[in-house]
Amino acid sequence: MTRTAPPNVGADQAFPTGVDLLHDPTLNKGTAFTEVERDALGLRGLLPPHVHTMEEQVARVMENFRRKPTPLEQYIDILGLQVRNETLFYRIMTEHLEEMMRIVYTPTVGEACQEYGHILTRPRGLFVSANDRGRVAEVLRNWPHEDVRVIVVTDGERILGLGDLGADGMGIPLGKLILYTTCAGIPPTQCLPVTLDVGTDNEMLLKDSLYIGLKQRRLRGPAYDDLVDEFVAAVQQVFPYALIQLEDFANTNAFRLLKKYRDAVCSFDDDIQGTGAVALAGLYAAARETGVPMTEQRVLFLGAGEAGVGIADLICAALCDQGLEQDAARGRCWFFDSHGLVVDARSDLAPHKLPYAHAHAQEADFRAAIESLRPTALIGVSGQPGTFDRPVIETMARINDRPVVFALSNPTSKSECTAAQAYEWSEGRAVFASGSPFDPVTVGERTFQPGQGNNAYIFPGVGMGVIASHARLVTDEMFFAAAQTLAAQVTDDDLELGRLYPPLSDIRAVSARIAAAVAEVAWRHALAGVERPDDVLGYIESRMYQPAYRNYA
Ligand code: NAD
Repeated sequence: MTRTAPPNVGADQAFPTGVDLLHDPTLNKGTAFTEVERDALGLRGLLPPHVHTMEEQVARVMENFRRKPTPLEQYIDILGLQVRNETLFYRIMTEHLEEMMRIVYTPTVGEACQEYGHILTRPRGLFVSANDRGRVAEVLRNWPHEDVRVIVVTDGERILGLGDLGADGMGIPLGKLILYTTCAGIPPTQCLPVTLDVGTDNEMLLKDSLYIGLKQRRLRGPAYDDLVDEFVAAVQQVFPYALIQLEDFANTNAFRLLKKYRDAVCSFDDDIQGTGAVALAGLYAAARETGVPMTEQRVLFLGAGEAGVGIADLICAALCDQGLEQDAARGRCWFFDSHGLVVDARSDLAPHKLPYAHAHAQEADFRAAIESLRPTALIGVSGQPGTFDRPVIETMARINDRPVVFALSNPTSKSECTAAQAYEWSEGRAVFASGSPFDPVTVGERTFQPGQGNNAYIFPGVGMGVIASHARLVTDEMFFAAAQTLAAQVTDDDLELGRLYPPLSDIRAVSARIAAAVAEVAWRHALAGVERPDDVLGYIESRMYQPAYRNYA
């Protein structure tokens, strides 16, 4: 059933009534429909008689959510709300962000992706498969919303640190876009999650009768590139104002695709650039705590993939901005990968590692590399749990008064060390951040609240800045501006608690400021498609989606 929209809905178009309205997640209010609305919109009898407030609905959802026995059950429960009542879902996300972030994003989303085919109820997002070659634009046109502004797309080959999960990786674009809306207020109808199903090389999935993707091996070479090219071209055609976020591609494709598209279409890779910005912000804050200026930091990375090189590239940009030559800046970043220290004598290095292959003897032992290089900071982005073991942390604590230790691998099961290990093995002197959340840790008299170097501090604000300014391209300078803006919002009280990032409860205000800084970069470099308003922050804030019910009658 449809009828003309009530005047205060604002659209002169068919507006659903009755059951259709209750089944429309963007309009549904459930038991909060008022008496007047129930009469006007054909809802009487379809809802129990009592009209609930939104606050009461929130209480009901949270009561049920907290009764679920496992995080995975909580994931299924809360994602179910998203497809029933989007406004209530986002109200809950906003009011209980810390609790919800662990579920819709790392660590639980990792488990959800591993189980995706088994927990699937109603499919969400858009699946573009290898069989859609030649008709990708047609597939995009099936999406029910026309004004798409942000697309998060994965091919599922490197989901968190969990590897190839094929089409089951859809949980990641869904989760990231939930954070775009929650953290930066990008309206949910402007967000499009996409999985490019190019097959999977995961034997377990290929044998699983409930796997949701194509049962074929991954496309490689030109067949793969052609599909991605067609997808990117189709986005330009169907959603010309959309920003494309590349997400959880395996590292060779990630670096290649970023290089290919970054100067041609409005796109970025969060694993490379977003991670770079959040880690750089953490290092700025850590430098305030350790007293070692950025230009004197020596950073040793464990893992030389997308995250590590993305962080190093942005550290170098920051050091160059402070006056260092590029070679000197790169000389401050060292890598240790699965074959040992990345040095110029090695002949097995992928192109993205070459700028960081310095002159040094080959070294296969990580602790020996620490002894030799005497880094001020360790950054773990290897996906290998337990690699920051006791001897590693103790060595760092012997070399530095305040060793900086970032264990960024996700989900929690992949973290190089836990927060408790970093603090305990360094006698409370570590300046620590992690990729997945850890509970507070008490060592001696002091309780630490470890900071989570979560990309959610960066990408929603960057995305909002890009779409609010109609930027044509996303540049490294925007990520650099985002990192500086984020770091500037860490207070002395945060640092005192061991926290290198502002509390998540402030994330909307933080994201708005990041968006303003990013948009300023677009205006400064003539990349913007709209006039600069006098009050940039006010302009950004006025665009932010508020999860509140509207009156329909
Ligand atoms: P990637 O596959 O591109 O890189 C992984 C790197 O680790 C490779 O260079 C590999 O050689 C190296 N490696 C593997 N085993 C090793 C070992 N035993 N010792 C040393 N190095 C080893 O992956 P990526 O995109 O760089 O992501 C790596 C990890 O970082 C993942 O767990 C991911 O979830 C995490 N990550 C965290 C954040 C964040 O917290 N903000 C952001 C992005 C990625």
